[in-house]
Amino acid sequence: MNPSVPITVAVGDGIGPEIMSQTLRILEAAGAALVPEFIEVGEATYRAGNTSGIGPEAWESLRRTKVLLKAPITTPLGGGYKSLNVTLRKMLGLYANVRPNRSLHPAVATRFPTLDVVIIRENEEDLYAGIEHQQTPDVVQCLKLVSRTGCEKIVRYAFEYCRQHSRGKLTCMTKDNIMKLTDGLFHRVFMEIGQEYPDIAQDHQIIDIGAARLADTPERYDVVVTLNLYGDIISDIVAQVAGSVGLAGSSNVGDHGALFEAIHGSAPDIAGQDVANPSGLLQAAVLMLKHLGQHDVAARVHNAWLCALEEGQHTADIYRPETSRAKVGTTAFADAVIARL
Ligand code: NAD
Repeated sequence: MNPSVPITVAVGDGIGPEIMSQTLRILEAAGAALVPEFIEVGEATYRAGNTSGIGPEAWESLRRTKVLLKAPITTPLGGGYKSLNVTLRKMLGLYANVRPNRSLHPAVATRFPTLDVVIIRENEEDLYAGIEHQQTPDVVQCLKLVSRTGCEKIVRYAFEYCRQHSRGKLTCMTKDNIMKLTDGLFHRVFMEIGQEYPDIAQDHQIIDIGAARLADTPERYDVVVTLNLYGDIISDIVAQVAGSVGLAGSSNVGDHGALFEAIHGSAPDIAGQDVANPSGLLQAAVLMLKHLGQHDVAARVHNAWLCALEEGQHTADIYRPETSRAKVGTTAFADAVIARL
């Protein structure tokens, strides 16, 4: 028996509450030893006048548990609000965002049956550091911040990830032909640290052709390490060509805690309809269980999820008449997973 561990849970906005309640149902049915502490973040918190989207009680829980399972939240557009996601990453020192993607061929339709790519994204710096200024009424500026320490941390993390997960090749993607100082530093650190890892094959590509090849021939990649903004974009591309953005989960790991979430957003266009795919959040929860050392439960949940997909229980985003048996909603998909635990 695993000892019970307190975790902080944010149910999020849009489809967040639907996919979180079904994910927690599956975890409980699988025997996960977790004690969820619910916090309020996102839209309601912004509306209550907190421009950071998170209140002091939520921080207190996070400081105690150091683990957050988070459903997507809606970030209000325009000035005056900070992105809660960016704030959490900075405050918890979550420097590495790891986004694994694997085709589930033949269960889930994809043009790339052997796709198996992990995107490792720097998570605190770059254009997401949140340094934006109004220079004149008509001119705005966003600063791109890249530090040697930040590059070294993420690049070393990526090489160590390759070793620990028996991955043979690491590709670095930057735009250092144009941004010679910022992206140039990232590339240079990659080459320097790479010398300590002769067992890992290494190459570098300019991000634009890298993104094009990821969309066209993703089988040629193994693990990719890149800067914050590029990583955000290419991880959605890879998840979508693997089957759906609704399938992929991610871990955000750092010095003071860990955050687990789906890669997609709050999908307001399908919220409240019980049609969203809960798989991305469930995969994030599996990564969380491994982080907490509950490997047996993680394997049980992952296998039951795979069985449900292999038996053609598909939400609308991955439903295809030729590969699916039944078009199911969020709750019915969770039922199908629980029945296979
Ligand atoms: P989105 O990822 O929410 O949705 C893009 C498309 O994918 C939509 O058509 C949606 O219906 C579909 N989709 C997403 N998740 C799905 C799922 N689980 N099952 C089935 N279909 C799914 O992107 P968006 O519409 O650009 O963003 C909506 C909001 O989410 C914005 O406010 C944005 O800031 C926020 N967002 C939050 C996070 C986060 O909290 N980590 C990440 C990205 C975007």
